[in-house]
Amino acid sequence: MPPETVRILCPNLTCRKVLAVPGTARGKTVRCRACGTSIKVPTGRGHSPGHQPADKPKDK
Ligand SMILES: [Zn+2]
Repeated sequence: MPPETVRILCPNLTCRKVLAVPGTARGKTVRCRACGTSIKVPTGRGHSPGHQPADKPKDK
């Protein structure tokens, strides 16, 4: 597996810098180099495990 890079946007409105962190930093907190804001790296890719959509129609 190639090393994954996660891009996150700095939540500091006066900074808004895009940070590229390694995939190993998922779930951890990184610090923006530009403004020093601590940013939590998201762990998933848009879908959270455990939450399943009700795509199955209820059988009656
Ligand atoms: Zn920043």
